[in-house]
Order: sequence, then C-alpha cells, then structure tokens
Amino acid sequence: MDMNNQIKDYSTFISKRGSLKKPSPIREIIQLVNLPGMISLGGGLPNNSTFPFKSLTVELKDGTSLELKGSDLDEALQYSASYGLVKLNKWLKDLQVRNHKLNAETAGKEWNLLISNGSQEAISMAIEVLCDDGDSIISEQPTYSGTLSILRPLQLNIVGIEIDQFGMIPSKLEDTLANWDHSKHKFPRVIYLIPTGQNPSGSTMNLERKKALYNICSKYNLLIFEDDPYYYLQFGELNDNSSDTKLDLGESLISMDVDGRVLRFDSFSKILSSGLRLGFVTGPQYLVEKIQFHEQSASLHASGLSQAVAQALLYRWGFENWDKHLLSIQNFYRQRRNTFISLIEKHLKGLVEYNAPTAGMFVWMKLNGVTDTKSLISEKAIEKKVLLVPGIAFYPDQTQPSPYVRASFSVATEEQMDEALKRLSSLIKDQ
Ligand code: PMP
Repeated sequence: MDMNNQIKDYSTFISKRGSLKKPSPIREIIQLVNLPGMISLGGGLPNNSTFPFKSLTVELKDGTSLELKGSDLDEALQYSASYGLVKLNKWLKDLQVRNHKLNAETAGKEWNLLISNGSQEAISMAIEVLCDDGDSIISEQPTYSGTLSILRPLQLNIVGIEIDQFGMIPSKLEDTLANWDHSKHKFPRVIYLIPTGQNPSGSTMNLERKKALYNICSKYNLLIFEDDPYYYLQFGELNDNSSDTKLDLGESLISMDVDGRVLRFDSFSKILSSGLRLGFVTGPQYLVEKIQFHEQSASLHASGLSQAVAQALLYRWGFENWDKHLLSIQNFYRQRRNTFISLIEKHLKGLVEYNAPTAGMFVWMKLNGVTDTKSLISEKAIEKKVLLVPGIAFYPDQTQPSPYVRASFSVATEEQMDEALKRLSSLIKDQ
C-alpha cells in the first residue's frame, strides 16, 4: 500500500458544523475532578449521597454475579467523561490493539476510542462532524436503513454502489469516482461500508475485497466509515464444522489503514445486549476528538450505568472468557443460519435467489418473478402474519422498485421459521 496517501490535514474533511464544535469548558473540567488532591468547586455535579441507589447486583447466566457498590457505583451514577468510563475505554483500546493491529504505544495520541450510546449515535455524530448538507457520500446499495435515515434529512447525495456476495464491487466504485461529474455534485469525502454480515444483504467482504476497496479509497482520498456490528457474528460457510471451535475474524479495514482514513464503529448490541446501548468508535485522534466535542453537547456521555455493568463484566471475563462467549454466540447463530437455509430450500426452492450468509443475522432474498416486493411484503405478508422488510427500505433512492426482501433468522424458533417461509412461499406463488 502507498504510504504517500497518508492523511496529514484532517481539517479539510470536517464539515462546517464540525469545525464549529469546540470543547465545552464544563466537560473539560469534569476530566480533572478525580486528579489526586483536587478540591472541586467547579463542575455542576449533583451530590451522589442524594441518589437512592445503594448497590446493584447483576446475576449472570453462568451462576456468578457482579456487584456494583462504593466508588464503582458512584462512578456509574455520576456524570463522567465523554470518551466513556476510563477503565472500560482502556479495555476496549486493548481489544482494538489485539484485534485490529492498532499500536498500543500511540493509543490516545495518534488514535483514540470513544464509547457512545450504541454505534448508531457514533455514526450519527461522525456524519454530523464530517458531512455538510448537500455533500455526496458513497454507500453500498442496498445499505443499512438506520444510516440512510441519518443521511436523508441532511439532504446528502447518497450514491449507492452495487454489491455482490462479497460486498461493494471495487470496479463499480472506481468507475463512479473516475467518472464523477464535478459540475453536478461535490466529490465525496466519505464512504460508508458494512464489511461483515452486511445489513441487509448478509454479504461479507473477504480480504482481497477489503484491500481493493481500501486502495481505491486511498487513491481518491475518501475517509472510510467501517460500520462493523456483525464482526463478532462470523460463523463460517454452510457445512463447515471446523468453525465451531475457532475464532477467525479476519482483517478489518482499520487493521490495514496505513493512511489514517478509517473510522471504525463497533457495537455491543449483538454480543452483550442491545438495550445497554453501547458502541464505540475508533480512529484517528483528530476525528475521534471532533466526535467527542459533539458528544459533549449531544448526550454528554453514554449511560454510566450501562458502561459500569459492561466494565465489571469485561474485567471479570478478561479476553479468555470474552472469546469463549463469542464462540458460543457464533455457534448459536451458525445453527440458526443452517436451520433457516434448510427451510428456505424446503419451502422456497426455485422461488427465490439468495446467498447463504457467513456472518450476521440476515438473508437477502430475490423473489423470482416479482419486480417490486413493496406491496407483497408491506401489505399481503402482514395480512398473512409474516413480517419481513421489503428491499426498498435499504435503497438510497426509494423510488426504485426492488425485487428483494430481508429476512432475519435471529429470533424466530425453528417452528416459526418453518411456518413463516411456508406462508411466504404461498404468497409468492399467488403473485
Ligand atoms: N449499523 C448497522 C449496520 C446495524 O445493523 C445496526 C443495528 N441494527 C447499527 C449500526 C446500530 O447498532 P447499535 O445498536 O450499536 O446502535
């Protein structure tokens, strides 16, 4: 990879709104409260002694429990730093060093990490500080509807690039960038990618694909948003039982980032709990700090109580038990995927086209003979009591008809899947 494309001046990427984000004087003070010997008459912290909570015990499914009390509970209940609780932030930095080849020596200097209220908040904050109204942004087509709903009100020119089972097709991206009509739209500064178990298509990029896309982004100087909430939900090919016992998560885009152009979004939602609302963004110090300025005014920080529960759990577990937990989740979703695919084969053979996903929780099915799934899925399927999402929900251009539907295999039981796919089969046949 070409080291000459290293980003030296991040300010050129920052939106007008982002450049106006400045550190909040009060928030900066909060970081100093716990310095040894400091007497605080500064911050507007409420007094913990007035809070009604004495301790918090969380029982774990393994029979043990976590107890939050004393200073740990005080920390959880009080305002805290916008980067997140110090110890949790440290644990997550160590995780990123371990998984993504980030340099432990430069943590907090060249790169940083911020804990957010779910990755959704981090994505939204990053868009706010990097994209101006009317800017162009590149995404996969289809892409995550939750990000589209952040982008649309900003009236961004969302340019969707075609995908295959390995994600965005590099030649299509290169064509779009090489032939950009500068008189019509501003050239994009950001590309939004979901590399693993993509929502909605289930596609997962292999290493070759990641390298090809990274090189194009480097050539055209795009910042990469690597939105990877399904990274830990990789469970391998159909009928590959060897993946039962090994964790092979592969290289991420941030791990190959020699230019400093990747902002990576991780999430606890699929591995600890979605209701905790915890995610974390990792990337170049300049950009994460800008996001932090935004967090200082948006939500101050992610929920202290949620962070404290996650922190207690992760320090109890260490990486060894974290890995064990991930393996059990992967095995769970592998079984689900296997069952779902066998039921698609049973009920929908010849009626749909799809690729069996190797990660995540979605199967993206093209309904043969149907040009637009909107009314079939949004009306007729609901009458028959089957919930699916019509493809159009994931298209930047929502006027375009889509023959696809997204099905999730995460929560339905085998019997429910069987019944749902039977109902879908009769709906397609009636069409
Ligand atoms: N990105 C993608 C691709 C997702 O699928 C989701 C959740 N559905 C999110 C982000 C948001 O996740 P979180 O719960 O961490 O906010």
